[in-house]
Amino acid sequence: MAHCYCSVAGCSNNKKNFPHLSFHDFPADAGLRACWVRAIRKDEGPTFTILCGSTYICSQHFTSEEKYVSASGRSKLKKGTVQSRFLWIDWGSVSLMRTTVTT
Ligand SMILES: [Zn+2]
Repeated sequence: MAHCYCSVAGCSNNKKNFPHLSFHDFPADAGLRACWVRAIRKDEGPTFTILCGSTYICSQHFTSEEKYVSASGRSKLKKGTVQSRFLWIDWGSVSLMRTTVTT
């Protein structure tokens, strides 16, 4: 958890600055994981490697319909979820920023 930050381009959220956000690991399923990588417009390779335990996507990129709260109170993603919010589309939009920026 020491270096828990979001790997989406243009998103600089990390656990330190946004402790209320959840940071989600990439799925273990190769097919779904490829979908996630495509969704954030990256390619797995020398410039981008997914490391379990250090490569995350923050919960800002998921709609509330894609998340649920587990019995232990943690925010989890529903099976098969691919991010539907893209910062390169939504960056600065009222709907996205309203929940996280209050100043
Ligand atoms: Zn993010």
